[in-house]
Amino acid sequence: MVDRPSPETALSLLKAGHQRFLDGKPLHPHMDVDHLHALAEQQHPIAAVLGCADSRVPVELLFDTGFGDLFVARNAGNVALAGMVGTLEYAVEVLKVPLIVVLGHERCGAVAAALRTQNLDLLPHSLAQLVGQIRLELLAAGIDRDLDQACRHNAIRAAQRLAGSSVLLNDALRSGQLRIEAARYDLDDSCLDWLCSVAPVPVR
Ligand SMILES: [Zn+2]
Repeated sequence: MVDRPSPETALSLLKAGHQRFLDGKPLHPHMDVDHLHALAEQQHPIAAVLGCADSRVPVELLFDTGFGDLFVARNAGNVALAGMVGTLEYAVEVLKVPLIVVLGHERCGAVAAALRTQNLDLLPHSLAQLVGQIRLELLAAGIDRDLDQACRHNAIRAAQRLAGSSVLLNDALRSGQLRIEAARYDLDDSCLDWLCSVAPVPVR
């Protein structure tokens, strides 16, 4: 039986890794061949991340982590579409990760596309679905112009949607076994802004 970090410990480990990255003193842990071999039969990541596919936001590097440390799901705009929710349910149910971070970032192209007024019908179907989901959230919040506000809101809403759309994730939140955080990565100074910790959806 593997000792699992608590949600709070997992978050502290990620913050410490990001600080090493910021300080220019990464340890590049768990990159050796022995560690790779030890992972061949099983994995015990300390956290899952729903991130944007943007090439400037490489999740493992930002948190100074190595093989087997993070379970990472990425799409354009870090959108909590059904496949991503299922992927994170797997991380929590099977891999027992205690922490999910939704990692948005500054100047996200997918969020910028959602702010434009062009007809979604002009986009390919799958891309329109993704951008449309972001746009729905922004419209509901009355955000129609400010890209940075939109990027922050998009990350927060994606994190909240994980709890709102998954009984499994919401139950894990309620029991205290899981924590879901939203954060925003700054492309200019590489800092992370921790936006919110998601509260479980009340169950009637
Ligand atoms: Zn992006």
